[in-house]
Amino acid sequence: MPTRRSFLAAAGLTAAGARAADPPLAPPDRQPPDLVLPDVPARQAKWAVVGLGKLAIEEIMPAFGRARLAKPTALVSGHPDKARRVAAAYGIDPRHIYSYDTFDRMRDDADIDVVYVVLPNSMHAEYTVRALRAGKHVLCEKPMATTVAECRDMIAAGREAGRKLMIAYRLRYEPFNQTVIRLCREKAVGELRTFEASNNQVTPAPNIRLSRALGGGPVQDVGIYCINAARYVTGQEPAEVTAFEHRPRDIARFREVPASVAFQLRFASGVLAHCDCSFDAAESRRYRVHGTDGFLDLDPAFSYRGLRLTVAKPSGREQVSLTEVNHFAAEMDHFSDCVLNGHDPRTPGEEGLADMRVIAAIEEAARTNRAVPLPPADPA
Ligand code: NAD
Repeated sequence: MPTRRSFLAAAGLTAAGARAADPPLAPPDRQPPDLVLPDVPARQAKWAVVGLGKLAIEEIMPAFGRARLAKPTALVSGHPDKARRVAAAYGIDPRHIYSYDTFDRMRDDADIDVVYVVLPNSMHAEYTVRALRAGKHVLCEKPMATTVAECRDMIAAGREAGRKLMIAYRLRYEPFNQTVIRLCREKAVGELRTFEASNNQVTPAPNIRLSRALGGGPVQDVGIYCINAARYVTGQEPAEVTAFEHRPRDIARFREVPASVAFQLRFASGVLAHCDCSFDAAESRRYRVHGTDGFLDLDPAFSYRGLRLTVAKPSGREQVSLTEVNHFAAEMDHFSDCVLNGHDPRTPGEEGLADMRVIAAIEEAARTNRAVPLPPADPA
C-alpha cells in the first residue's frame, strides 16, 4: 500500500501543508509532471513556398516547425540546387520542386493547398494571379504589389477562382500589436489624437529593396509598417497625405529609390499621424499612440522578436507582460485555419490595396510637393 504522500506525488500533486523543503525529487512516472504534449491536428494545410531568399530561408521555413496547421510540401525556385537542399532539410519530396517555368503545373499537385509568395515586390502580382488561377489559395508578402491596379487584379483573380487571398501582415497575428489595437478600441488612453512611427534601417547594395524595377523603396519595404499601424491603431482610413523624400545624388545605391521618406496622414476624425522611414539610418522600429489620457509606446514595434509595450498615464508608466509568439507561424496557422475551415482571413487583399493607395498618395505628394486627398471609399 503506498503512503498518502507517495500516492499524491505519483499523480503529480502536492499535499496541502506539505513542507516546501520536502518535494519529490525524482520525476514521478519518469517524466516531468508538467509536460505538455503537442496536440495532433486532424488536418494540416499543405504549403508551397515561392522564392527561397532571406525571408523564406531564415524565417519562414524554420517557422513551419512552430506552426500547428501548416506544413511545407512544395518549393518554387529558379535555383535547383538550392531548392533541393532546402527540400532535403525540411523533408519535402523533391518531386514537388517547381521552377518559375513549371509553376503553373502546381494546378495538378494535390499536395499543395496554399502558395506563399515571397518574391521581389514587382513579382507579387504575377505569381499571385497565376497561383490563384491554378486553384491555390495565396498568402502574399507585403507590399501586396507595386500599383493599385495590380492589387485590384489580384483581388479579382481570387474572386474569379473562388480562392482566398491574404497579405502577410504578420503583426496582426501577434499579441503586442493586437493588445495595442484592443487598448485603443477600449479607449485605455482616452480619445486618440496623434500617432508617430519610425521604421529605419541601413540597406546596403545589392538588395531587391534598392531596385525600382523590382518594386523597391523605403516606403514600400519599411514605411508600409507605419502606414498599416496607423490604420489598424486608429481603425480608420486616412483622408489626406503629405510627404517629403530625400534622394542623395552622391550615394550610388540611392539612384533609383529615395534614401528616406517622411510623411503625414490626416484622418477625418482629427487624428494626425507622422511617420518616417529610411534605408540610410540605424535600425529603429517603433510607434507611439497619443490619447487624451496617456500614450501607448511600442518599441520595438515592427521587429520579429523582442517587442516591448509601455502604457503611460499621468499616474505613471507600466510595461505590459505578454508572451511573444513566432509571427510567421501565427500568420501561417491563421491562414491554414481559414483554408481548412472556410473562414475569411483577417488581412485579405483589400488590406494590401488600402496600404497601396496610401503609398501611391505618398509618392504623388513627394513628387508634387502638395497634399494629396484620398477619397473615402475605394471599392476593389
Ligand atoms: P531576397 O532578395 O532575400 O529574396 C528574394 C527571392 O526572390 C530570392 O530567392 C530570389 O532568388 C528570388 N527571385 C526571383 N526572381 C528574382 C529577380 N528577378 N531578382 C531578384 N530575386 C529574384 O528578399 P527577401 O528579403 O526574402 O524579401 C522577399 C519578399 O518578402 C519581399 O516582398 C519583402 O518585402 C518581403 N519581406 C517581408 C518581411 C516581413 O516581415 N513580412 C520581411 C522581409 C521581407
